[in-house]
Amino acid sequence: MRLRNIPGADAAVADSDYCIRQPELMKGSWNTAFCAPGPLHIEIGMGKGRFIMDMARLHPDINYLGIERYSSVLLRALQKMQEEPLQNLKFICMDAADLPDVFAPGEVDRIYLNFSDPWPKERHAKRRLTSRQFFARYDLILTGDGRLEFKTDNQDLFTFSLAEIPEAGWHIDASTRDLHRDAAINEGNVMTEYEEKFSSLGNPICKLIASR
Ligand code: SAM
Repeated sequence: MRLRNIPGADAAVADSDYCIRQPELMKGSWNTAFCAPGPLHIEIGMGKGRFIMDMARLHPDINYLGIERYSSVLLRALQKMQEEPLQNLKFICMDAADLPDVFAPGEVDRIYLNFSDPWPKERHAKRRLTSRQFFARYDLILTGDGRLEFKTDNQDLFTFSLAEIPEAGWHIDASTRDLHRDAAINEGNVMTEYEEKFSSLGNPICKLIASR
């Protein structure tokens, strides 16, 4: 994601009703952040929020939290929410490394990772959102029968993830290196902004579903 420092982004995020300001205070009571209780699904690295907004619109009975590290990126989602408020969607501006400070054990029902940063240098492998270090964090917050869904067009990151996930003690339930030509796994697929961009360039999209 190309980053521009947008003046006022931090303040806009801090002032927004759609953004949770001190998310660690909600640990264990995320259901009260929404109009109605429901399963909690999170997208880590939501970017400008297209995927999670489409999901929230399609599934009003599920509560969604979009997590994004940069306020200048999250700002775009906040602007879209002003045009079309969705009751079952909130945002957090935070680094996913701090997830266990924000969610109680078993509080999250599903995790989406979409087009996560690849961190290609080996010495940065532990920063990848599909590294065993991140799966140890997901272990702490996901329900026992919860699952994680990961999409990317980056073949190297996908190969790394397929090997890393079993090392983290998780199972790969399904995987494909050509999502849009795999009718079974593509059923009900909601495209992300990056997915639209890269598939229009001819890049095949990889997807895996993992659980414990
Ligand atoms: N998910 C969107 C999509 O598919 O269109 C955006 C993909 S973009 C390549 C990756 C996003 O993840 C960026 O906005 C980046 O700031 C965010 N991100 C990367 N690492 C993160 C982390 N540790 N915590 C929170 N957000 C992160």
